[in-house]
Amino acid sequence: MENETATIEKIEYEGFDVLQYRVPEEDFPMAKIAVFVGHSGGKSNSDGGAYSKTLGMGEWTYNLPVAFAYADEAVSCGLDCDVFVRSEPGWKGWKPMKDQLNKNHAEDPYALHLMLHFNAYNERFHGSFTMYWHKSKNGKRAATIFTKVVSEHFNVVARDPRGLKPKMRANHLVKLGHMPSVIVEAAFGSNVDDAKKLFAGRDTYHEALMEATLIYLDF
Ligand SMILES: [Zn+2]
Repeated sequence: MENETATIEKIEYEGFDVLQYRVPEEDFPMAKIAVFVGHSGGKSNSDGGAYSKTLGMGEWTYNLPVAFAYADEAVSCGLDCDVFVRSEPGWKGWKPMKDQLNKNHAEDPYALHLMLHFNAYNERFHGSFTMYWHKSKNGKRAATIFTKVVSEHFNVVARDPRGLKPKMRANHLVKLGHMPSVIVEAAFGSNVDDAKKLFAGRDTYHEALMEATLIYLDF
């Protein structure tokens, strides 16, 4: 972490942790970001997310260090950042995490909520895309920026951002209380070319995410 006076506090809840990265109070954080590491600790069959044979890991494992590096980068840029991580397998962690996110947001609003994933389907599908709540203008704007920056970072095709409506898969993940929320599907782990690019671009992925964040925040 470049900002050596910044602090990290880990708060443990039942089934998930929130790591709070804070810039010193006298530095007045410019904004606060929430990052969710998609899925949870454990193997793919217990919800480590999609598993990529080429990468040799699942989504959660891939994105965990990215989220921490992003949070470090955030405080270096004068932003506060909360990283939400489910260390326990299973889906039941989502509801309490969402409640905690909304509670934090009510007290001290998040400027943006990011959820980190990669995709998997069949071997033919490839490219990067994002999802947002269809009624959120800022969500759409953020999704468009993240799609562009992330697809360019990994040098993969940019697919159209998707505005999620009620009943669409994963809509509950972006339909959050009054904060722009973006699911970032970096690329397809099930496509060999994409997966190789995910591997090559992993160590600097957090920088691309921060670049997109700063464009979105207009800093
Ligand atoms: Zn996922």
